[in-house]
Amino acid sequence: PGVQLPHDPQKKTIVVLGSGWGATSFLNTLDTTDYNVIVISPKNFFLFTPLLPSVAVGTLSPRSIIQSTRYVTRHKTRAVEVIEAEAQHVDVVNKTVSFIDNSAIQGELSATTIPYDYLVYAVGAEVQTFGIPGVTEHACFMKELHDAEKMQRLFLDCLESAAFHGQSEEEIKRLLHIVVVGGGPTGVELSGELHDFLEEDLKSWYPELADKIKITLVEALPSVLPMFSRRLIEYTVSTFKESKIDILTQTMVKEVKDKSVKLALPDKTVIDMPCGMVIWAAGNRGRAITQDLMAQLPGAQTNKRGITIDEYMEMKGTNGTIFAVGDCTSSSHAPTAQVASQQGAYLARAFAQRVKRDDLEAKVTELERSVAMILHDDERKKTQDELEGAKRQLAKFKIRPFTYSHQGTLAYIGSDKAIADLPFLNGSFASGGFLTFYFWRSAYLSTLFSLRNRTLVATDWVRTKIFGRDVARE
Ligand code: FAD
Ligand code: NAD
Repeated sequence: PGVQLPHDPQKKTIVVLGSGWGATSFLNTLDTTDYNVIVISPKNFFLFTPLLPSVAVGTLSPRSIIQSTRYVTRHKTRAVEVIEAEAQHVDVVNKTVSFIDNSAIQGELSATTIPYDYLVYAVGAEVQTFGIPGVTEHACFMKELHDAEKMQRLFLDCLESAAFHGQSEEEIKRLLHIVVVGGGPTGVELSGELHDFLEEDLKSWYPELADKIKITLVEALPSVLPMFSRRLIEYTVSTFKESKIDILTQTMVKEVKDKSVKLALPDKTVIDMPCGMVIWAAGNRGRAITQDLMAQLPGAQTNKRGITIDEYMEMKGTNGTIFAVGDCTSSSHAPTAQVASQQGAYLARAFAQRVKRDDLEAKVTELERSVAMILHDDERKKTQDELEGAKRQLAKFKIRPFTYSHQGTLAYIGSDKAIADLPFLNGSFASGGFLTFYFWRSAYLSTLFSLRNRTLVATDWVRTKIFGRDVARE
């Protein structure tokens, strides 16, 4: 009701929630010939998250790392309906999704409910704040495009306020102290990018201030980057030492204030550390809509970390109607883009197989009906044989389960250095310099989904190399 579907009543309807790694990879791979497809996401674009820290320091322009979802869907065999809206509720029993347009401009209709035959659930996760006071109010996240743009503005604001005529030394020191919370890959990569900005640009733009800029990375666990090997962790720690990025491990942020962070140190003492800005990269948690969805299946969905799926991406307890991929799920795989995109592509291929299975089922039903109706013996025998053949084919028909193929983990740590755990090299790999820098860049360039994005990102890199990063504050 309310929405005009690109509807063929003979075909089943797949509703896709999300336009991130999982959903986009699904849409890229899906053959839409046999389905009605509707995509619902509050963002009408895909965000290439690995390069988000580069946007935060102005190496890349925001638009270079996004791609309109319509760019993917317009090339599809059958029209895909793209709806910019936030799904608010999935009704598992009635198989419907309710969603609202919560953007600034709305039409007369801004909330509705549509039915689905299959739901591909790929809404990702949201920033985990652990309920720590002041995080939402005072810290800057590093998850969405607007987070990176906001961080760039705030960071440059810290610099300009420090440059304010007559500012005291103590206040300059505070304003130029940047605290990054979370020693996972996001926090580490962002610290590295900040360091490059400082070395390559700020030293010439703000010569009187550059030496006073300080970056502190705070991590609650005994080490940063726990998912990497010991050798790579040590390499990162020593690189950060040379880059004068302070790492505080076994240190927990207890509160974020307007002008400081409250830290619980390893010896349990609590201190207030003055700073100009705080970047919160402390991990993710499930969205409210995901919790609501799981709460409808209390017997099957008990894992607090996310949706439980089987090896076919099927959400347990939904009888083959809801499939979930990516960060909203809890599986043996890490919540990464690599996993989400492989799951999305797998699911699209599985849907192609599902059509074949449905066709076979329909053929069996049709032949059974024919056999019962045919009077002529010879003809009935022929149809009976055909029916047996179709039944055998159906019995043998199996949709292959998902298998994850790990392509390695790569992280840029600043100063033209990158670390990598590469399975094909049978171990870890850490290096710096010209070649690493270009290896890192070409790896990301090749992963970008479109030629348009590759061109924009490559052009931005050349622009930054020639003209430096921009320090004009929007
Ligand atoms: P997302 O990509 O987050 O997509 C979720 C989608 O759902 C979004 O389009 C969102 O708008 C939409 N959505 C949200 N709420 C709703 C709703 N209510 N209704 C409908 N749609 C909704 N991983 C790597 O493997 N390598 C990396 O180098 C890497 N770098 C990263 C760098 C950063 C800064 C960050 C933040 C993450 C990085 N990751 C990396 C992790 C990776 O981005 C995630 O694992 C990946 O995005 C998960 O894909 P997803 O499709 O599950 O979720
Ligand atoms: P994360 O969960 O990996 O790391 C967050 C860190 O914050 C944890 O180590 C945690 O101990 C720490 N933390 C939490 N609360 C804290 C507090 N109050 N005080 C101090 N420290 C605190 O999060 P992430 O780095 O955003 O990564 C999320 C996912 O995305 C991971 O699966 C990661 O592998 C993936 N990712 C991969 C890359 C890459 O491959 N280059 C880059 C970014 C993200």
